[in-house]
Amino acid sequence: MGEEIESIQCPCGRVIENPEEYKVLYLKHELQEIDILCPNDSCYLRELGYIKFELQEGKAKFKEASFYPPFVTWNSGRLGADEAEAKLKNHLKMIAKKVDWTRLGLQKPATT
Ligand SMILES: [Zn+2]
Repeated sequence: MGEEIESIQCPCGRVIENPEEYKVLYLKHELQEIDILCPNDSCYLRELGYIKFELQEGKAKFKEASFYPPFVTWNSGRLGADEAEAKLKNHLKMIAKKVDWTRLGLQKPATT
């Protein structure tokens, strides 16, 4: 029996072995939120999670990050809750590490 390595998977079927594969969108700067997207362009979920940040004295600081319930539930069902939680937590950590915090801090929020 060929045992497959248990990887995180999006409900659309896309396996995400490496946190580098997620797409990260910086569009919601005013909301101080970064979207985490599925690497599959035709994914029906698209948004898998988010990272929230704060701007303090021109610096962007990590606030919180989370995956959305459909993605978490899907992986808990496949890997078991503990395993999925540990893996997803690690993915979030890696994604947050990859964020260009300096660049984020340089962008001024639109205040009128
Ligand atoms: Zn997907």
